[in-house]
Amino acid sequence: MDYTEVLQQIAHELRPVIGQGQVASYIPELASVSPHHFGMAVVTIAGDIHTVGDAREAFSIQSISKLFTLVMALQLEGEKVWTRVGREPSGTPFNSLIQLEAENGKPRNPFINPGALVCTDILCTRYAVPENAVVEFLRPLSGNRNLHYNRAVAASERRTAHRNAAMAHLMKAFGNLSNDVDDVLDAYCRHCAIEMNCVELARAVVFLAHGGTHPEGQGDILNTSMAKRLNALMLTCGTYDAAGDFAFRVGLPAKSGVGGGIVAVMPGECGICVWSPALEPSGNSLAGSLALERFTTLTGRSIF
Ligand code: GLU
Repeated sequence: MDYTEVLQQIAHELRPVIGQGQVASYIPELASVSPHHFGMAVVTIAGDIHTVGDAREAFSIQSISKLFTLVMALQLEGEKVWTRVGREPSGTPFNSLIQLEAENGKPRNPFINPGALVCTDILCTRYAVPENAVVEFLRPLSGNRNLHYNRAVAASERRTAHRNAAMAHLMKAFGNLSNDVDDVLDAYCRHCAIEMNCVELARAVVFLAHGGTHPEGQGDILNTSMAKRLNALMLTCGTYDAAGDFAFRVGLPAKSGVGGGIVAVMPGECGICVWSPALEPSGNSLAGSLALERFTTLTGRSIF
């Protein structure tokens, strides 16, 4: 399939909507990003790369990092992870405290903030500098040896991370956080501030389209069964409180972040990443969601 042609058509069709929506502003450093970017990349299992627009411009991956910290937590702890975090859609915003209190400090899934904080806690137990471990994990996967996190973005989020701090303290009170709350928050804000571009992110998720094995020689990242589970979680919980509608419209496992990036997986075929910073109200990139919807429509392919 000529994905380049498909991507060009999508970029052309979406021109009128790029910039519609709101750039995330609750993290002050992110508020200054132009809403007018649009980039998209497809990386196939065979290693072919197809791009359009700003596909090689780095952006803040934010919650997409939750996918990678979950992979690392699963590598370290296997099924034990599920004793501390569930795998049901939450039906609430990603930073809601109410459900966490009602459910005794066990987050519904690893992609809402408290669930991701549990994964970061697992990394804090294992690594002296957990954010560096995430960066080191992503360098070979993404093909970018210079991958790093943006210190200004991390500091900006850390200064304003009151809700995340409240969630972390609540989980600590329920006995579901092993490390010091401040250490977990520091590591969390830093891995959220990792910067990557669409090509790097599409490449970093292609193992999920390939039964958990990295096609370019990085070996088994997850076993087949865990890769299946991760894809299932992305489909049901990966796009905030709009995951049902997203599955309906797009039909691919995906994970989004408030930086405007969305990664998606076409099993047996390719990793995909789209970036456009302006978000719709549930927190997903507005143009990015539409682009993925057009992608599965134009190619006639999805997981269904
Ligand atoms: N670092 C962000 C936060 O915790 C990530 C949010 C997101 O991308 O969903 O609020």
